[in-house]
Amino acid sequence: MTKVRMFLCKIGLHKWSRKTFIDYGPTSNVKTWRRYCKICGKRQTWVQAKGDKKWFRGN
Ligand SMILES: [Zn+2]
Repeated sequence: MTKVRMFLCKIGLHKWSRKTFIDYGPTSNVKTWRRYCKICGKRQTWVQAKGDKKWFRGN
């Protein structure tokens, strides 16, 4: 963990992991994608409504 890397995180340039897809099953009407920063551990989650191409961003 270098100071440069932490600086990049501080300004929002995180080193993201691969996206992980979470499906809550056929009864769910949303799909969830999750990834995390390998340096600071920050998590980011997207929720996508099934059948909708518009993406929503949440915590
Ligand atoms: Zn980070």
